[in-house]
Amino acid sequence: MVKAIVGANWGDEGKGKMTDLLAAESDFVIRYQGGSNAGHTIINNYGKFALHLLPSGVFYEHVTNILGPGVAVNIKTLVLELENLKQKNVPLPKLLVSERAQIVMPWHVLFDKLEEERLGGKSFGSTKSGIAPFYSDKYYKVGIQVCDLFYPEILKEKIASICELKNILLKHLYHAEFLNPNEIYDEISRYSEIIEPMVADTTSLIANAIKENKNILLEGQLGALKDPDHGIYPFTTSSSPLAGFAAVGAGIPPHEIKNIIAVTKAYSSCVGAGPFVSEIFGEEASTLRERGGDAGEYGATTGRPRRMGWFDAVATRYGCTVQGATEVALTLLDVLGYLDEIPVCIAYEIEGQITDTFPVTHELYKAKPVYKYLPGWKCDISKIRKYEDLPQAAKDYVSFIEDAVGVPIKYISNGPRRDNIIFK
Ligand code: GDP
Repeated sequence: MVKAIVGANWGDEGKGKMTDLLAAESDFVIRYQGGSNAGHTIINNYGKFALHLLPSGVFYEHVTNILGPGVAVNIKTLVLELENLKQKNVPLPKLLVSERAQIVMPWHVLFDKLEEERLGGKSFGSTKSGIAPFYSDKYYKVGIQVCDLFYPEILKEKIASICELKNILLKHLYHAEFLNPNEIYDEISRYSEIIEPMVADTTSLIANAIKENKNILLEGQLGALKDPDHGIYPFTTSSSPLAGFAAVGAGIPPHEIKNIIAVTKAYSSCVGAGPFVSEIFGEEASTLRERGGDAGEYGATTGRPRRMGWFDAVATRYGCTVQGATEVALTLLDVLGYLDEIPVCIAYEIEGQITDTFPVTHELYKAKPVYKYLPGWKCDISKIRKYEDLPQAAKDYVSFIEDAVGVPIKYISNGPRRDNIIFK
């Protein structure tokens, strides 16, 4: 059985926690896109972790974790994350890296930083992990695959040729120092030794696992609205966080993905620039931000305060549609327990017209939220484990969202820990 856990919104929906929970019954947990630009927060018996590149199955000894061909592999980050697990006494996880995955090179991180600086006030709010330059190069066919590490002559030649290209931009566009291909080659070759035991033909392995009916969990990063084709372009990420792309980025037949769990917050948050219709500001936002997440809504990668907003049914319905969600996990419901009434954005008003269809970016900037106010429950629900035991107002809120989104809510997360979960 192949399941995908994906974001219905702008990312940070609590996918890490849900993956950690569902990994218990999985044989494989596979990342299929993105890199170390996002952070999945996981709190379990070993402590609190912000995983950037590692799949969220690394806390279970029975799980084989895979970085699929679609992932942007930053080997330095990978090594640091594994070190961090060791320091916190997590047993060494089973981790495999696809030989076809590509490597985030030092120039990707450098160009990400230089380009954001060049754009100044018009920057995209990148995490500066090199992801946009990485995927541009991949499709421009000047990427370095993991397998290249084991062909020194080819690697050396590729690095020299790419540096030639990059140095022109560094000189004329960014007025920055040249790259030294020999230094980069030496640095990258050191990685080959570290990564070698993890490198595998993951595609064949997964094909066999499917034949053997193993449980496979595909772990998405960010959310549907950050998809370069379907999201708030250009304020998107550079690879597709959609379940549809999981087939490509992990190497799985599309028809095998039977179960697509779209994770959505009971309110909204967003990092980076771009339109955000139900955004709130000032004290209203800071109160929600401080109460949100497990210790406030701050980026797991950058520590930046997240932009806050109320639940956006228009955006989430669209997010679930493009994800092809078969069920929804509603997270962070506990956070809303302080409100007398809870605003939910049910439609957008664009130049006097009311719409419940998610429009293109230019129209989103003009859109004003139309709110419906639902009664709050005004109590702590984090200790509740059965749906029936939730206060009526909380059940009504869940049902309202379920109807608005049009996909059954199967999981309600009411706290950051593994056991803060209600199966509906
Ligand atoms: P991800 O990138 O989708 O995994 O999301 P993040 O980890 O960046 O953000 C989710 C935040 O909410 C983290 O700080 C989690 O520990 C926390 N969290 C997840 N589920 C819940 C929940 O149901 N309630 C509360 N209060 N915090 C949660």
